[in-house]
Amino acid sequence: MKSSRFFAILISFFLTLLLSVSWATAKNSSHEAFLECLESHSETSNPISAVLYTPANSSYSAVLQSYIRNLRFNESVTPKPQLILTALHLSHIQAAIICAKIHGLQMKIRSGGHDYEGASYVSDVPFFILDMFNFRSINISIENETAWVQAGATLGEVYYRIAEKSNVHGFPAGVCPTVGVGGHFGGGGYGNMMRKYGLSVDNIIDAQIIDVYGRILDRASMGEDLFWAITGGGGSSFGVVLAYKIKLVRVPSTVTVFRVARTYEENLTNIVYSLPASCRQVA
Ligand SMILES: Cc1cc2nc3c(=O)[nH]c(=O)nc-3n(C[C@H](O)[C@H](O)[C@H](O)COP(=O)(O)OP(=O)(O)OC[C@H]3O[C@@H](n4cnc5c(N)ncnc54)[C@H](O)[C@@H]3O)c2cc1C
Repeated sequence: MKSSRFFAILISFFLTLLLSVSWATAKNSSHEAFLECLESHSETSNPISAVLYTPANSSYSAVLQSYIRNLRFNESVTPKPQLILTALHLSHIQAAIICAKIHGLQMKIRSGGHDYEGASYVSDVPFFILDMFNFRSINISIENETAWVQAGATLGEVYYRIAEKSNVHGFPAGVCPTVGVGGHFGGGGYGNMMRKYGLSVDNIIDAQIIDVYGRILDRASMGEDLFWAITGGGGSSFGVVLAYKIKLVRVPSTVTVFRVARTYEENLTNIVYSLPASCRQVA
């Protein structure tokens, strides 16, 4: 009786061991297959292996944490990506989209990492991160009063680059300088100039996106519906936004910012009317 119980325990132990080994082997082989897919769908002249970080890589945690802006999601229990792809080249993004589809692995797109819910770097299902921080160039044309801004740039960088070229131009967007262009412009973008110039998306005139088929599209080729969707509807539902073309707005060469706390009973309206008209417009 005793020996049959012992054998039953032994068999169940070996069965559990066998199942765990085969599960781990299957997981490893699907991970390997995903890596191979990325290699085969990107250009050999721009090796994708140089920008891939798996948990086995010593820089994995640093790369993951560098754009986790909500520390609630920087805990040991927070689900972690199987891989982080810090794309440097368009073909890296195309490969990520195509291979995510082939292998059914969820892709999270991260620009500035300021999503309140950690939507760009947390998931309840197996996932990887497409990190856009290398796509952060800003090309300004003061002559045309426009700029092409890549998704991985921050708002602070946008303001700084505009100010380098002109002291009478600006762009209406958020107040936090480390917020990313990718998520901010995709979702609307409000800030100090909203009353005069509206939201960021009211001043976006073109965009570049890589769609679900890996095609690079601009406003003309994506069509007005998709352009409308990625300027307020949240870009990640529709593709990977590479860049937005923005219309610069005119600002006074000197802007004074101050705060005065007064109630209506304390002559609030008189204070507002005593300001010069230009201040009232911006205030
Ligand atoms: C401290 C702080 C201050 C803020 N201040 C303001 C403010 O003043 N005004 C305001 O309007 N908002 C403000 N926000 C909100 C902020 O604009 C949004 O959370 C915005 O989505 C963050 O963009 P991100 O690129 O930094 O975030 P991410 O976390 O990288 O992305 C946010 C979302 O956009 C998607 N996404 C990111 N990049 C791309 C891309 N290239 N293509 C497609 N999808 C993409 C992500 O997948 C995710 O779903 C603030 C947020 C924080 C945390």
